[in-house]
Amino acid sequence: RIAYVDGAYVPLSEAAVSIEDRGFQFADGVYEVAAAFDGKLFDFEGHAARLRRNLAELSIDEPMSAKALELVGRKLLAKNGGGTALLYIQVTRGQARRDHPFPAVSTPTLVMTARGYDYAPRVKQQLNGVKLLTQPDERWGRCDIKSVALLANVLAKQAARQAGAFEAVLVEDDGTVTEGASTNIWIVDRNGMIVTHPAGRKILSGIVRDTLMRLAKADGLKVVERAFDVAEMNAAAEVFVTSTTALCIGVSSIDGTPVGSGTPGPVSRRLGALVWDEIARQTGY
Ligand code: PLP
Repeated sequence: RIAYVDGAYVPLSEAAVSIEDRGFQFADGVYEVAAAFDGKLFDFEGHAARLRRNLAELSIDEPMSAKALELVGRKLLAKNGGGTALLYIQVTRGQARRDHPFPAVSTPTLVMTARGYDYAPRVKQQLNGVKLLTQPDERWGRCDIKSVALLANVLAKQAARQAGAFEAVLVEDDGTVTEGASTNIWIVDRNGMIVTHPAGRKILSGIVRDTLMRLAKADGLKVVERAFDVAEMNAAAEVFVTSTTALCIGVSSIDGTPVGSGTPGPVSRRLGALVWDEIARQTGY
């Protein structure tokens, strides 16, 4: 397998950055995960735009243009056998003697990896549904930035997996559901509206979230961005999660209690199909 490190394509086993990289020292960096189907990137413009916004928020220079990023990404995917794969992109503030303030001069570090990814288990989950576990949202105040500082997400996800659940639902002290450890969370409310937490500093606005919202509206479905709490989620007709790696998966139970009928409902199944149609449209998959 081949990785990309600051301009060079190198064997993954030899790919390395300095231990004084600020990504390693301070988690001073951001990342993206984009999917490719049959070697063709899906929604890459959205990922590149979010990366650019995140870098600007942190005053980290853009290592290259969106177009160049896409070219490198495509080349790396091809070098790793193409097919259906995930492209991981990480940009940090670069290497400097360890000190909290930004270094006077630094060059951002850009690394990418590409790895084959099988959506077949996800398709099975789309049919059967997945379990969720609620966990306190213990993250920082800028969850809109896709920071590599993921410790709170890691702990929540681990708790979920230990409980036999696919994903953790992050819940604020007042009961508000923000999002999943690595997914956005949606419900179908009692009025039949599709609801998800508003974009802003409390959540990472997912690329699939954006795409799904657009596809749902075009399909005549009603989507509203508003906060909801655990009680409303538990009583919802349907709950589902979205992300680049999950796409759109219905939820069968939360904390051991079934959601609705206990299998994915018509709305999540319809949205899942619309996402697959969009993947086919963009990539020919
Ligand atoms: N929310 C969080 C915290 C995430 O880490 C992710 C993706 O990893 C998402 C939401 C979904 O984002 P996307 O649809 O861009 O994959």
